[in-house]
Amino acid sequence: AQPLLEVRDLQTHFELEDGVVKAVDGVSLTVPRGRTLAVVGESGCGKSVTARSILRLVERPARIVGGQILLYGDEPSDDPLDLLAAKDKRLREVRWSDIAMVFQEPMASLSLVHTIGNQIVEAIRLHDEIGKVAARERAIEMLGRVGIPDPKRRIDSYPFELSGGMRQRAMIAMALSCRPRLLIADEPTTALDVTTQAQILDLLQDLQQELGMAIMLITHDLGVAAQVADEVAVMYLGEVVEHGPATSVLSAPKHPYSQALVRSVPRLGQRGQARLAAVRGTVPPPYERPSGCRFHPRCDAFMAGKCDLTVPTRVRADDTDVACLLYGEENR
Ligand code: SF4
Ligand code: MG
Repeated sequence: AQPLLEVRDLQTHFELEDGVVKAVDGVSLTVPRGRTLAVVGESGCGKSVTARSILRLVERPARIVGGQILLYGDEPSDDPLDLLAAKDKRLREVRWSDIAMVFQEPMASLSLVHTIGNQIVEAIRLHDEIGKVAARERAIEMLGRVGIPDPKRRIDSYPFELSGGMRQRAMIAMALSCRPRLLIADEPTTALDVTTQAQILDLLQDLQQELGMAIMLITHDLGVAAQVADEVAVMYLGEVVEHGPATSVLSAPKHPYSQALVRSVPRLGQRGQARLAAVRGTVPPPYERPSGCRFHPRCDAFMAGKCDLTVPTRVRADDTDVACLLYGEENR
């Protein structure tokens, strides 16, 4: 089936005085319609930069230097819109109404000088032909649904009057009030306590059912991914090394990096390791990418003379796409 969003060979670089950091270095992935893709990987792998690049929300010194980001229409015959090539005006129309984004730190997207109610009402009315009263009703309903107590009163709060958890809920309410086709959520629950986190993840799944919305969830937490994802993309050093159904990637990962990540989470690891096994070695310095396979200095399956020389092609193995020389005729 046609995806909702397709990222093709995305390149987002940080152009610093000392050199260029290729934070996103050829990311390709698809987000399925009405379902949840979790993008996982260690911090610094380029997950957040990928997410922000989709709506062109990167700022200097970061710059999108290549790739395509295709947003498909409802009909298979509709031409996709390339968000990287779209005019600013068109992109503003897409934000909120087609694609809404929630960040780890809600203060980054909430205005300090307006009540949350006014911000939500404004976001709704930017894209929906609906009156102020109706928009306010919808905002109150959504604030209630994200678990904000007494939403009729809280709607007139300023962001600083709310706790961190409440602000995050308000941010999610704002995103969902616009009924986007895609919600991009970057570590939306990381700063919250476990109970609130579970409530918000449940809520996202309920609303996904109800609104038919796709979710791209950025998380370093494989437990969260296991709870909500239909598909999982694993990122390492600015690229996607494995992408497939969540059940396959999380229970029988193919790429040695995915295997190491899954092993590092005891209740996901199949053999019930008692101790947490962190991924061996450290992420290499940002200015230099290892030759050949980027993961080779840390890989348990490293093949000398091969993995350090040859860049793996991404191939299909069973129901999963994987970039590792252990798989595929192309890589033999
Ligand atoms: Fe490991 Fe080689 Fe596969 Fe890279 S290509 S993940 S180094 S086995
Ligand atoms: Mg991040």
